[in-house]
Amino acid sequence: MTEAVKFNTDIAGMLEHIDQLTPEQIRKEYKALPKELKQATTAVIYRGNSPMNGDQIMCVVSGIKTKSQNDKTGVMAQASILLANMHPVEGYKTGADEAICGECPLRLNEGSRICYVNVLFNNGSQYKSVTNNEVFMTPRQLAVILAYRQRGIRWGSYGDPAMLPFGLIHQVMSLSGVHHTSYTHQWIQPWFDKRHLVYSMASIDHVNTVDMLMELQDENTRYYRLVDSYENLLPGEIKCPSNSDSRKEDGSRKITCAECGLCAGSNKQAKSIAIIEE
Ligand code: SF4
Repeated sequence: MTEAVKFNTDIAGMLEHIDQLTPEQIRKEYKALPKELKQATTAVIYRGNSPMNGDQIMCVVSGIKTKSQNDKTGVMAQASILLANMHPVEGYKTGADEAICGECPLRLNEGSRICYVNVLFNNGSQYKSVTNNEVFMTPRQLAVILAYRQRGIRWGSYGDPAMLPFGLIHQVMSLSGVHHTSYTHQWIQPWFDKRHLVYSMASIDHVNTVDMLMELQDENTRYYRLVDSYENLLPGEIKCPSNSDSRKEDGSRKITCAECGLCAGSNKQAKSIAIIEE
């Protein structure tokens, strides 16, 4: 385990101010976009090196045009952080996924993988899509599209958003003003850019605990904790309102992430989240 770095999350003053696009700017800039970008369902918005180990990674956003079918998240664009030159299944099987997931304890370990992400189905499709025909758009272009379509974004539908430059996420979120969800396991790493906690929930699991998080930062950091039951929640926690056992008559969830939006980092004034992951 890497030696952790101590920080606090009183970081609002460290953020570059970026004005949200006005409705007029959104209409004008959307209209001026190339047809290829307006029609894109999936796009690459970043290529660079992993702060974890220097390997080449990319950020692929899908669900930009079509509506995602994800029962839990609802309609949101899905931003995945992928290895740039390796299929995601090969990535997690070989351990090369360290570049995008860091030391996340949910990765494959001694034949057991706890991570609930369906890498083959979801991220395999994203990888294939950009390998066959890459469409690249800038963070500003993505922000314009999200704002025009009033579509939220889920950062880290696979991979960890803290592997991306903070400025990229800050730009998309500030310009677009759309809702989002985001989670990071990297708060333990010495290279971690603590500004990510503005938008990301700190992920808590069986290895990286609330006590460790509280020791490393101030009490305002919001987190997302995997639990086995909703009994004995800690002070300052509520259970995720999107329970799979609480459904409407048609079988759909009573609330989706797109409607809830609680997992939006420490900038959101709300309790931390406990969840039984399914
Ligand atoms: S708390 Fe809300 S945003 Fe977070 S996982 Fe649950 S439904 Fe989604």
